[in-house]
Amino acid sequence: SVRVRFAPSPTGFVHIGSLRTALYNYLFAKKMGGEYILRVEDTDQTRLVDGAIENMLNAMSWAGINHDEGVMLDENGNITQKGEYGPYIQSERLDIYQQYIKELLENKKAYYCFCTKERLDKVREDQKEAGETPRYDGHCRELSQEEIDAKIAAGEPYVIRLKLPENHVIKFTDLVRGETEFNTNDLDDQVLIKTDGFPTYHFAVVVDDHLMKITHVIRGEEWVSSTPKHVYLYEAFGWESPVFVHLPNILNTEKKKLSKRQGDVAVEDFKKKGYLPEGLVNYVALVGWSPEDNQEIFTMEELENTFSVERVSKSGGVFDTEKLNWVNQHYVKDADDDYLTDLAIPFLVQVDLITEEEATTKREFLKGMVSVLKEKLQYVKEITEHASIFFGDNVELETEECKEFLQLEHIPTLINALEEKIGNTEVVNEAFVKAMFKEIQKEHGIKGKNLFMGSRITLTGQMHGPDLPKTMEVLGKEICLNRISYVKN
Ligand code: GLU
Repeated sequence: SVRVRFAPSPTGFVHIGSLRTALYNYLFAKKMGGEYILRVEDTDQTRLVDGAIENMLNAMSWAGINHDEGVMLDENGNITQKGEYGPYIQSERLDIYQQYIKELLENKKAYYCFCTKERLDKVREDQKEAGETPRYDGHCRELSQEEIDAKIAAGEPYVIRLKLPENHVIKFTDLVRGETEFNTNDLDDQVLIKTDGFPTYHFAVVVDDHLMKITHVIRGEEWVSSTPKHVYLYEAFGWESPVFVHLPNILNTEKKKLSKRQGDVAVEDFKKKGYLPEGLVNYVALVGWSPEDNQEIFTMEELENTFSVERVSKSGGVFDTEKLNWVNQHYVKDADDDYLTDLAIPFLVQVDLITEEEATTKREFLKGMVSVLKEKLQYVKEITEHASIFFGDNVELETEECKEFLQLEHIPTLINALEEKIGNTEVVNEAFVKAMFKEIQKEHGIKGKNLFMGSRITLTGQMHGPDLPKTMEVLGKEICLNRISYVKN
């Protein structure tokens, strides 16, 4: 059965491209009824970041991209592993790589290389000067066993390299890019084991994908040029190679590779702004993949049923924040009020609209406000731009235009009517407000913009805003009256 994996290197934050790679792996596994595995690739010990694995796993579970097997977090947030093919953290598999490199050495598919950094730098310089593509010159390819033994006995540091045959064509089929071909003359004798005894990514990835019975390798396009080396390794071991699927790069709207310098590219950045996981995942699914029809809003379940590798595009997918916002807004509009209130509170505290304490004591009020404002929000942080009208006994008129509007002839009549009717009711709710507007229209002949904008400016200080009857219901009788009397005087 199908087995796929997401194999992040924990380097601190989760790029939106990694989220998409994980998502496509997950969706493919679901669609095929297979297994989705998460493996941690931490063989580059210089790039390790504390807490990065936990952070990455939290991002995945936030997004709802859950794996069946591999590295997980337990209920206390500690790292644990699940599955029969572990360990799933490469730094815990060093003895396995040692065992397999021995096999390659014995079969003369790999060799010890004692070249110093100085020598390698010089070779590279010379090649560059001669206009050649820099690659290892094969200096250590034919060392005799005696030479090797002597150097090792003398304690000389070494790496182990892949011994690529000369002028050998390596072919593989990529489900997105089709048939791909490389000649070994254009490839380097890749380092497989580094001086610190750790495997390189290239070696570990092949050994692990084989031992973990991975059937499809779905990963970013930046790995295409590495794939022939991997394919050759499968050949060298006599293993069957998995099917490859390389996903197009994610580009910005200027068609350049999306990078951290241009702003938000990490899943955490979007989470921090109050994007909903459903919105982000839905949008990211569409960057580089499209369904047969024009459907754009997908639940995870719909994605699981609709996704297909065949419809992944060859060319880069553009990450368009406006489109993301449009998709996310759809989810915010439909989200549960309590859930959104929880998300909104930190933003409101941050801009001092409420205190930590009021987050609890004014919960019902805040929830009411959220339910009124949610249709305006592309992401939850934007609530701070709309929420001010809900705070304060008095409202400051926002613009000159507002002030001018309140100079109109009918305004005193309107304000008096509002004051009287609101003063006489038990509670201000949506139904009351709607009925009240009808009455004022009937009794005083004030209607349309004169009625609604006049009332809105009086009660909120602004010319435009969310649904007024609902807003008034959330504000409540007392605040409505306070605001009216403030404007009146
Ligand atoms: N560890 C690699 C990365 O960080 C994984 C590449 C692959 O999927 O083979 O992207």
